[in-house]
Amino acid sequence: MSRLLFLLAVIVVVFLLLRAFRKRPPAQQDVPAAAEEMVRCAKCGVHLPKGESILAGGNFYCSDAHRREHNPK
Ligand SMILES: [Zn+2]
Repeated sequence: MSRLLFLLAVIVVVFLLLRAFRKRPPAQQDVPAAAEEMVRCAKCGVHLPKGESILAGGNFYCSDAHRREHNPK
């Protein structure tokens, strides 16, 4: 009985290893998102993708709150 459990454990480990190896190649195809142009928040200096930034008065901001704080009007 213990030999059957050992065999089952070996099969599970092999299955998990094969699955882990198969997961790796797709992760390398996430290049387009990382290649997006980065801009700097004029308020706090954090870098973020241009598509997620807020453009106001020629400056980029990470959030609407920082846009208002930097340019109170
Ligand atoms: Zn900011």
